Amino acid sequence: MSALINIFIVLFAIISMECLSWFIHKYLFHGPLWFMHKSHHQKTKSFFEWNDLFAALFAAVSLFLMYADRDNLSYRFRDYFIWPDLFCGTRLVCAPEI
Ligand SMILES: [Zn+2]
Repeated sequence: MSALINIFIVLFAIISMECLSWFIHKYLFHGPLWFMHKSHHQKTKSFFEWNDLFAALFAAVSLFLMYADRDNLSYRFRDYFIWPDLFCGTRLVCAPEI
């Protein structure tokens, strides 16, 4: 039963995030935030575009929220997602010898 609840939670989170992303793109990015987002719909020769600031902003908000709730952060989340991503994800420590 617990597995079904977990599957439901994951599916609910995925569907909710997709709906929220659609809403934000349609009504915020193509609305009041168009001045930044329009660079994403225009051809440019630059590697970066103004739209990239959204990713940096969302990452900053996510990191802040994780930091703000760091005392309640589950050891499983920390040990299985954050530490491996810092070390193995960037291949600083766990990179296999070739
Ligand atoms: Zn768009």
